[in-house]
Amino acid sequence: MKLAARFGQVPASLTLAIAAKAKAMKAEGLDVCSFSAGEPDFDTPAHIRAAAKAALDAGKTRYGPAAGEPKLREAIANKLRQENSLAYERCNVIVTNGGKHSLFNMMLALIETGDEVIIPAPYWLSYPEMVKLADGKPVIVPTDASSCYKITPEQLRASITPKTKLFILNSPCNPTGIVYTPAEIKALAEVVVEQDILVVSDEIYEKIIYDRVQHLSIGALGTEIFERTIISGGFAKAFSMTGWRLGYLAGPVELIDAVTTIQSHSTSNVCTFAQYGAIAALEGSLDCVENMRQAFAQRRKIMFERINAIDGISCPKPDGAFYLFVNISKTGLKSLEFCKTLLESQQVAVVPGIAFGTDECIRLSYATDMNSIEKGMDRLEKFVHSLNSM
Ligand SMILES: *Cc1c(COP(=O)(O)O)cnc(C)c1O
Repeated sequence: MKLAARFGQVPASLTLAIAAKAKAMKAEGLDVCSFSAGEPDFDTPAHIRAAAKAALDAGKTRYGPAAGEPKLREAIANKLRQENSLAYERCNVIVTNGGKHSLFNMMLALIETGDEVIIPAPYWLSYPEMVKLADGKPVIVPTDASSCYKITPEQLRASITPKTKLFILNSPCNPTGIVYTPAEIKALAEVVVEQDILVVSDEIYEKIIYDRVQHLSIGALGTEIFERTIISGGFAKAFSMTGWRLGYLAGPVELIDAVTTIQSHSTSNVCTFAQYGAIAALEGSLDCVENMRQAFAQRRKIMFERINAIDGISCPKPDGAFYLFVNISKTGLKSLEFCKTLLESQQVAVVPGIAFGTDECIRLSYATDMNSIEKGMDRLEKFVHSLNSM
């Protein structure tokens, strides 16, 4: 069978491959410590589950509008106005099957063949593949620990060509956990406006931030940047709702209408009763989010200290999300080899940085219990020491 050319360049997800191997080892009865999770390890809060169950019992089981339940779109617009200072109305918001779906549909609606999309590396691994699937060209801009893995305004400006359509900003960032400061966001916004490109701000981790760090939505910085901003958000990470498949996209009405048309011919509405869970998430108390955030904060502290106490590996302190991005270049191993050997010799699963465009690092998720963290860090320490003594 001859597959479409656009598919030829898209590899299967590397993170899923490592996760599958770890799972298989677990099934064999091996005691695997996994730091590969890209999702919170908590149950969805009870009031959210209850709202979805009630909706199911109330017969919310039919087709709904392709753009989402009006009440949910309204609740999302309210949230964006109140929490993020973004002047959106219901017509600026579409409910999607998750943040991933938001971004993919947005690319389909915006990108023409050959359009360039600027992606700072390390990046969330689906960004470049989505751009390629939409027949666009990912333009990867490498960053490193010296700038805390942040793209500078100079780098952004230098990457822009007449073909540039879009810049992808992800703060808090997966895989690094870094959060851009308000001043840094402002400087990037100035370049976006000056060069008249679009920016999509992936804010899926906005509520998982630590210490006194602030999350700022780039679109809140004035009318000119607001008009060029698209917001991608969702419920998966903050509310521990990964399996619900619920996200949203917010932006100019023309774009939201285009994405609505795409959805009307592809997925139709997002699961109707699940949307009622999302309404409860937005309208209910945020104590549940805060409790999860505090648990993440504790784990982050322990894991950050343990890793930086190991000779030969290091990472910057992340301000958000639930990942540590650890430099392993001193061990002399490339990321994939490091991860494979670590999994085979110590039964510790981590994700190779090459999946995120940075081969000298690995990603560790602390969306796992404290016992596993302590045990896994002991093993990682042993592993790196064994490499050092070779
Ligand atoms: C998890 C994640 C998403 C979206 O996840 P969904 O489950 O599709 O809502 C988007 N961006 C980043 C960076 C993520 O880590």
